[in-house]
Amino acid sequence: MTYRLNDKVTQLTPYEPGTGEFSIRLDANESFLQIPEHILEEMKDSIEKIAFNRYPDPLATECLQAFANVHNLNADHVTAGNGSDELISVIVGGLFQKGDKLLLVDPDFSMYAFYAHVAELEVVRLSKSKDYIIDPEDLVETALQNNCRGILFSNPCNPTSQGMPREDLIRVLDRLPDTLVIADEAYMDFWDQSVMDLVEEYPQLLVLRTCSKAFGAAALRLGFAVAGPMITTAIRSLKSPYNVNSLTQAAATALLRHPQCLKKGLAKILASRDELYGRLQELKDSSLNQQLKIEYLLKPKTNFVLVRFHDNVEIYDMLKDKGILVRCFPRFMRITAGSPEENRALLQTLMNYAEGLI
Ligand SMILES: *Cc1c(COP(=O)(O)O)cnc(C)c1O
Repeated sequence: MTYRLNDKVTQLTPYEPGTGEFSIRLDANESFLQIPEHILEEMKDSIEKIAFNRYPDPLATECLQAFANVHNLNADHVTAGNGSDELISVIVGGLFQKGDKLLLVDPDFSMYAFYAHVAELEVVRLSKSKDYIIDPEDLVETALQNNCRGILFSNPCNPTSQGMPREDLIRVLDRLPDTLVIADEAYMDFWDQSVMDLVEEYPQLLVLRTCSKAFGAAALRLGFAVAGPMITTAIRSLKSPYNVNSLTQAAATALLRHPQCLKKGLAKILASRDELYGRLQELKDSSLNQQLKIEYLLKPKTNFVLVRFHDNVEIYDMLKDKGILVRCFPRFMRITAGSPEENRALLQTLMNYAEGLI
């Protein structure tokens, strides 16, 4: 055998999401809501009308317009992707060149470093503060000192649930006119500090959004890149022509044409998140915490809660044994806000554990 894989791929392994049978999945920041029946009916109707022998609309025009209407944007500033994940890949692979420096923050979404690695970029990392805050001055200084071509971070952040306020990000943009600033706003529906409206004013700004979290449509695989004309033309030129299939375009258009429903769903998720956070805070302040040992809990700006137990792995394994899957990181645990019943089951299991019943 003479064929050998190149070095950069031999280090990689296929992505493995949490597998196995779990009655409660609070590990992937998905929405716990089902899409309402009347919207499902509209999706079915529009899918039936698809010309399956034809390629999809390369720009997903109707879908873009529906998304733009939800957020009061100009559809000319939006590009659709096969999940925002595909857009991250296209952007990191296409708007940078081999050896370019990309500034990432730590901790942050792990896919950024993965795509940077595949594109053979040099990653520069800035550690966040103890409370997982990014200091805008530090970010600017690090970018300038290292001659970074771009900055990429999630806002608000997965996995920390914290975020950079709009005013801070504007300061960064004012200081770095020559640096591509990519704000992944996958969770910004849960917070109110978006910079999407600034893409004309700041041509170096690129914002990513997704239908996978607040809109409850992770199965569709649909994300959006929002940017000024220069970057939008570049992304549209770089992406593969038929990246968003006709079924997704049809279904998403039907969904996005119901902004009131999306708003109602969002309110339910926020209520669940606040309930989960509040109850964990109560546990932390109660006598049960002598056993549970919650050390740290952050007020979230996302649909998940970051919590640190003294022994995250032990608690993670215990929950897993009880059919509840959350996401465990070395320094903390990430718990997605579930349905009221799912949250109750999680909290009850934690209480049972603290009382020595497990
Ligand atoms: C979930 C998530 C995404 C992925 O979105 P898709 O549109 O489903 O690909 C992107 N960025 C962050 C930070 C996420 O947590």
